[in-house]
Amino acid sequence: MNISARIASSRPLATTAMHGRVEALRNQGEPVIDFSIAISHFPAPGPVLDAVATAIDQQRTMPYTSVVGALKVRENLSAKLRLENHIDADTDEIIVTNGAKQALYEALYVMTDPGDRVIVFQPHWPAYVATSRLMGLTPILVDLPDEITPAFLDTIEPAKVLIINNPHNPTGKVYTRQELEHILAWVERTGMQVIVDESYEHLIFEGEHVSFAALCDWRKVGVVTIFSASQSYAMMGWRVGFALAPKEIVNAMQTLQGPITAAAPYMSQLAAVAAFACGTPGEMMADYRMRRDLVVQAFSEVPWIIMHSPASGPYLWGDIRALTMDSVDFSEELLGASQVAVMPGDALGVPGFIRIGYISDDVATLMDGVRRIIEFGNAYKGV
Ligand code: PMP
Repeated sequence: MNISARIASSRPLATTAMHGRVEALRNQGEPVIDFSIAISHFPAPGPVLDAVATAIDQQRTMPYTSVVGALKVRENLSAKLRLENHIDADTDEIIVTNGAKQALYEALYVMTDPGDRVIVFQPHWPAYVATSRLMGLTPILVDLPDEITPAFLDTIEPAKVLIINNPHNPTGKVYTRQELEHILAWVERTGMQVIVDESYEHLIFEGEHVSFAALCDWRKVGVVTIFSASQSYAMMGWRVGFALAPKEIVNAMQTLQGPITAAAPYMSQLAAVAAFACGTPGEMMADYRMRRDLVVQAFSEVPWIIMHSPASGPYLWGDIRALTMDSVDFSEELLGASQVAVMPGDALGVPGFIRIGYISDDVATLMDGVRRIIEFGNAYKGV
């Protein structure tokens, strides 16, 4: 059996691998509490379910749309961009994809050649690095500071592409307008293209989401902005997102997407239109805020963890360096001894931290899991 060198040297994504492990343990009857990823306990919004139910009632089960997505769908997404993101985009500057992941893969593929360098701030969503490596690119990992300043940016050697994740998984950082302006000045000076992943745009607790493309001439700079229904509307399994990009890039992404998946599923395209018309998911955000505050409060008296309250997103990013225990060992032993899965920071490029997804279970299970983490760490620390 020949497995290509290209893939043989790659590993499954740490996040999906951990999720798979949890599922396997659960199938063996182990009651694992899974904080390793964030799968919302909310259903998709009512209008999404209605839109799909209506299409089924009317037997509108269209086999394929054009690869970039149905025109009507892109018209609606263009209206969403104007209304919510203050971006004017034509329908041929939008491509509907099977989630943000496919958009990321395609954007990177068409903007780079093997051997090119891609700047990724860390901690990072593992897919940025895994996708870069699959394509023979060199990810340049740069520690994300609390505040992006021109002086900080000047220390980084430019690359072919810069990837920004705003709002940021896992820290919850919401980039300010000023930070984005500093980044814009830097990429304009250095000629870098930019991929901005705004998949968490609606999950903001504090601050304001500013789209990078709204601040600049994105066609000229070469900016691809990625959106997803997964996190904003609890639609992870619907596999739908979209990218906004200059027409040449959309055309190139289409050339790549055609032979792989063709269009995103039509039902999911309809669902995306209904979802993105919902705007900010108010009820869901009130629930997430309540959970975030409960968990941060529970950790606040624990001497071996620093848990800041995130400004956005479904994760908590805990600094456990005071525990003097390797974070991979921590995650492995916690899973074995206490049946709680967390993501070690190592998988996101920064050892000494753990990431906790806090939106999946009912609140009693969430707090039971938090209690088990605290008891596990306390026992190790002898407190
Ligand atoms: N971007 C980031 C940074 C994410 O963490 C996630 C969810 N894990 C996504 C995008 C969503 O990806 P998809 O649309 O492929 O589900």
